[in-house]
Amino acid sequence: MAGQARKVMDQVLASGRTYLMEHESKAVLESLGIYTTGAGLARSEDEAVKLFQSLASPVAMKVLSPEVVHKSDAGGVKLNLEDADAVRRAYREIIRDFHDTGLVGVSVQKMARPGLEIIVGVANDATFGPVLMFGLGGVFVEVLKDVSFRSIPITESDAQSMIEEIKGHALLEGYRGHSADIAALKQLLLQISDFVMNNPDVSEMDLNPVFLYPEGYTVVDARIILGEPRAEAPASARLDLHDLFYPKSIAVIGASGTPGKLGWNVFTNLVSHKFPGVLYPINPKAKDICGIKAYPRISAVPAPVDVAIILVSAGMTPDVVEECCKCGVRFIVVESAGFAELGAEGKKIELEMKEIADRYGVRLLGPNCSGIINTHCSMVQSIGLVDALGKGNIGLVSQAGVCAAGMLWGLRLIMDFGIIATIGNKLDINETDILEAVSKDENIDVICMYLESVKGGRRFIDVARQITLEKPIVVLKSGRTDAGKKAVASHTASLAGNDQIFSAVFRQSGIIRARDYEHMFGLARAISKQPFPDREGVFIITYAGSLGVIAADAITDNGMRLSELEPHLKERLKRLLPDYVCGMNPVDYTFSQDADIVKKTIEIGVESSDVGSFIVVLQAEILDSYVDALKSIDYKGKPIIACVAGKEFAMQDVIKMESAGIPVFSTPEEVADALAIMYRHNKRVKSEM
Ligand code: ADP
Ligand code: MG
Repeated sequence: MAGQARKVMDQVLASGRTYLMEHESKAVLESLGIYTTGAGLARSEDEAVKLFQSLASPVAMKVLSPEVVHKSDAGGVKLNLEDADAVRRAYREIIRDFHDTGLVGVSVQKMARPGLEIIVGVANDATFGPVLMFGLGGVFVEVLKDVSFRSIPITESDAQSMIEEIKGHALLEGYRGHSADIAALKQLLLQISDFVMNNPDVSEMDLNPVFLYPEGYTVVDARIILGEPRAEAPASARLDLHDLFYPKSIAVIGASGTPGKLGWNVFTNLVSHKFPGVLYPINPKAKDICGIKAYPRISAVPAPVDVAIILVSAGMTPDVVEECCKCGVRFIVVESAGFAELGAEGKKIELEMKEIADRYGVRLLGPNCSGIINTHCSMVQSIGLVDALGKGNIGLVSQAGVCAAGMLWGLRLIMDFGIIATIGNKLDINETDILEAVSKDENIDVICMYLESVKGGRRFIDVARQITLEKPIVVLKSGRTDAGKKAVASHTASLAGNDQIFSAVFRQSGIIRARDYEHMFGLARAISKQPFPDREGVFIITYAGSLGVIAADAITDNGMRLSELEPHLKERLKRLLPDYVCGMNPVDYTFSQDADIVKKTIEIGVESSDVGSFIVVLQAEILDSYVDALKSIDYKGKPIIACVAGKEFAMQDVIKMESAGIPVFSTPEEVADALAIMYRHNKRVKSEM
């Protein structure tokens, strides 16, 4: 049957068109087993009447012309025609109004009985390829743009979440006694996804509207637009980047003995962090740098080099890259800037470098990056000077160097990174390659990413989806404004904004999208230090009633709830509470709150099967006094986050608390947001397992 669909499309292409008119589009859909009203083609009044009689129902008649894309806007749709006279009149009017539009004829089709209007569509995204769209029709899509997207192909759970994700979702479940056949809708989404996978030249589709019924659906209008066949993604060779992250030897080309120069910074970082492998400073004018013997050029180095870091000016890089390749260097990290980010001239140099590296099969990171930090092998390649770092379990992949290493000065005091990889212009090794490599590292438990673009395309989704089942990924994606939107024929394509697609793709892969830096690193702190909540109930302990109330509101806003202690635990808690404390959750100890009572209260909460997580609101002025007590509790796998108003004025104690493994946030809203994100992530992972 699918062969029939191809045949219709090939005929359209053979006639020099790429736009399938309604009757052709519906023929394609029918042959895939998708239900439509059908659309008979009438070329004369008599043919129209004959079709009407054969349908034995009121009919709709519509203009069929390759030049009329939006038929009703042009006045080319006549509805509810109930007798032969009306059919003849409609036929004559359409001919009269559209005779000079390359008219093919008039379609005659059954009037579909009214149902819930939805839209299903396909657009082509520049980064991820074909995407599927779903939404409620009419004002929901026109005005509210309440639609959801997923990259094609979709899975059944994608179809489910696409449906659940739209704001008007409740309308599908039941509204004024009507409900919709969700199973049939899911099936339709999956069929369209399959169809697009099997036909790489389908570039846009609109099924708009589809009428959805308590049982089944019918496609009322359809258009399909063909384009250049999508290139099959090249089966990418799996990159083994292990030695890029754990090299035994590093050459720094452009290392310098002059403080202030970038070549000095990079080399000093390697030396001061005590990189255990062999270092080769390359500088034609120096005998040694930081007391380490220098070589005039990479070819003069007497032993094999795993990683060469290049810091020479952009124009010189192709020659240096070639020399590195000839000497058997395995990985090249180009930290110099002045390439594609500056324009065409820089782009040309990049391509030259890429051609050379490809020719030798050498993998290249950057250019315009700040190298790699791997605290677990004491390797810091950053362009900026970096102070002592702890060895942690957070991975950070950043497109921009400054946004990673540049923020370390403060961050390193409250969170420990394992690997920080900057990827710059992603000339060769892209974000997906790095993500895959970092995720495989056993020292890493959570991955943050700062991205401005994605080069890996669909592979990014497939790789990330797999990773998030084991290790959470938090992404901050910038560049949200939609520049250079081109004119498109389908409704779906006009709605498929770049940022919507990114959000959809992140959801599809289980990636947590952060709002800003503070959010990303806050989540990373919470996730790297604490287990995931495995139930919705939250137990709140506070010294300030107001902050307790705010926290209770915030957890509710985030889809969590206050936990309810079992009666025997309530009894235990009552014995602990001073007379003036009445609430059981939030428990408000007022200013008499101290470390001992908080500890005892948490220990009661730990026993409750309804407590999934803890929020403790602590006084900034005595934060220090809580550190040891909170550290000593056996939480039995339940997470805790501290909320400290004014924490920025008690930084020394915040650092102590964070070092004890307890994340500190400023507001109850931030805490509730983090716990809810962690809870939902955990729930998703469990459901996908
Ligand atoms: P276009 O989108 O090109 O303007 P449509 O074929 O979608 O034209 O028709 C416009 C509207 O007319 C539809 O949204 C639907 O409400 C109604 N309509 C069209 N065809 C039928 C049909 N066969 N049965 C019931 N209603 C229809
Ligand atoms: Mg339509």
